[in-house]
Amino acid sequence: MLIDLHTHSRRSDGTDSPTELVENAARAGLDVVALTDHDAMTGWDEAQVAADRVGITLVKGLEISCRYGHRGVHLLGYEPDPTDAALLSELERVLRGRQDRLPKTLARLNDLGIAITEADVLAVSGEAAATGRPHVADALVVAGVVASRDEAFERFLMPGRPAYVDRYAADLEHMIRLVVAAGGRAVLAHPWTRQSRKVLTAEVIGELAEVGLVGLEVDHNDHDADTRAALRAIASDLDLVITGSSDYHGTGKVGYDLGVNTTAPDQAARLLRDRVDLLR
Ligand code: AMP
Ligand code: ZN
Ligand code: FE
Ligand code: FE
Repeated sequence: MLIDLHTHSRRSDGTDSPTELVENAARAGLDVVALTDHDAMTGWDEAQVAADRVGITLVKGLEISCRYGHRGVHLLGYEPDPTDAALLSELERVLRGRQDRLPKTLARLNDLGIAITEADVLAVSGEAAATGRPHVADALVVAGVVASRDEAFERFLMPGRPAYVDRYAADLEHMIRLVVAAGGRAVLAHPWTRQSRKVLTAEVIGELAEVGLVGLEVDHNDHDADTRAALRAIASDLDLVITGSSDYHGTGKVGYDLGVNTTAPDQAARLLRDRVDLLR
């Protein structure tokens, strides 16, 4: 059974519609796929219709932009109640922070002599719950300023580059509590990417487990073999679920193909507990 627990659609910064994503997941031979758009659950209904049609299991999730120790950390939430008021209001705050940053980002680019407008960016962000840096990057590609999303981040949009603007992100411990209170399961996404490795020590991960964290995304393209081994040992010590996933963004992220990393069925069963029916 092939299980991929982290993917993005056009409802955030992926390039597939939720329907296309599910169709592509079936084509890639996946049995289970989680849709985990950034800070949004708006793709779930469309994805579920497609999943029922193509005969694949959909896990409903999201990837939340959080902050821990002044660093950006991403938290995966699986199967929370999508009507939970406290969760929704904090997600709205994150989405608003991203959306409100757009004029400032564009002003920075304009200062550099790059005349990209809000309309240019909204033309590429379309269905997205909020317009983020990847959409600005896509608009820069359309305008012929850069050749790829990666080049746009490298030259303009990464922290330290001239068009980078900070934004609001949720407090990590608070968000773990919100996901759990909404009946969801909280898993740290790619915990040891460059941004978060320094702050997410084994000790801190232990503290997060006490707050309600249940898993670590160990198998992810941003982790090399040594990193995966070290994280696997931490997960074992703390009895956390070990997940693996692609972090697929369609054509938005090269090499992150559906199923490139997967989650073992026994780990998925532990993660989904009372929703284990999803794995049958
Ligand atoms: P934002 O929420 O607007 O700050 O954008 C963050 C998103 O941009 C991340 O979740 C990634 O999907 C994407 N991203 C971040 N860094 C890069 C990069 N160096 N190259 C391409 N995409 C990136
Ligand atoms: Zn993304
Ligand atoms: Fe992420
Ligand atoms: Fe992601």
